[in-house]
Amino acid sequence: MKHSNAFTMEHATILISLVCNLRCKLCSAFSPYHTDAKHPSEEHSKESLKRFFQIVSHVDKFTICGGEPLLYPYLTEILEFLHAYMPQIGLLEILTNGTIIPSPKLLDCMGRYEKDCFRVLVDDYGHDKSRRVNEIKEVLQKTGISHSIRNYKDENAHCGGWVDFGDLTEKKHDTQAQIEEKYSKCAYPNRLGFSFAIGPDGYMFPCGPARRCWELGLVDNYSEYINLYDDALSVDDQRKKMQKVLQGNSLEACAYCNGMCEDSPRFLPAEQLD
Ligand code: SF4
Repeated sequence: MKHSNAFTMEHATILISLVCNLRCKLCSAFSPYHTDAKHPSEEHSKESLKRFFQIVSHVDKFTICGGEPLLYPYLTEILEFLHAYMPQIGLLEILTNGTIIPSPKLLDCMGRYEKDCFRVLVDDYGHDKSRRVNEIKEVLQKTGISHSIRNYKDENAHCGGWVDFGDLTEKKHDTQAQIEEKYSKCAYPNRLGFSFAIGPDGYMFPCGPARRCWELGLVDNYSEYINLYDDALSVDDQRKKMQKVLQGNSLEACAYCNGMCEDSPRFLPAEQLD
């Protein structure tokens, strides 16, 4: 089918699974609050990706994250599957929490990617949490796989630490002007081009708090998220929806959210829930 024009994005993500082996209180994907999280099937993840790349002609950076993606039993198969989509991806990245050493099979698959187009981003939350960082680094170095270690463990933590989006249960901003001001200061729409995370359900939300507000039943504005499985919408319709989100002045979820702003207080990354 011919579509009206190409559609490119700065950044998109797949939450390949919300299962995680850490329980970070301020997780931006709210993973530990999904107490019944299960791994989606390999077929479902592939179908979601296929549908995403039918809509999006090119994405500058595509991140596989979670949860902890290295816990996902079909990660190698997904990485093999994504190889065919590399003409549509600038940089493919796997974001991991430094707790799991990639298997030889996964390393072999990673090694087949061009160095400039693929990397593993390892978050280091300190030796009590990211226990395998040094071993992961060693194995990635030895196999020649591009990687970066992101410091989240001391006073030089990336971006000064994590932010607290809040528990999102009640409105923090009432007027549209206050909501738009929050949005205008938030790094998600402004500096990061949103995260546009495809969830295990095939729904794609512009940021973690927007998904969480929807999960909590606080907002349900279908013009602000994408259901990749909505066959009533054409590819062009889906593109128009995404374009509208990218060009908006706020999301309904911003009313409930502290945002990720320059002046947001910073917290110790990966503090664990009891
Ligand atoms: S809901 Fe609004 S304020 Fe909160 S992270 Fe998303 S864009 Fe930013």
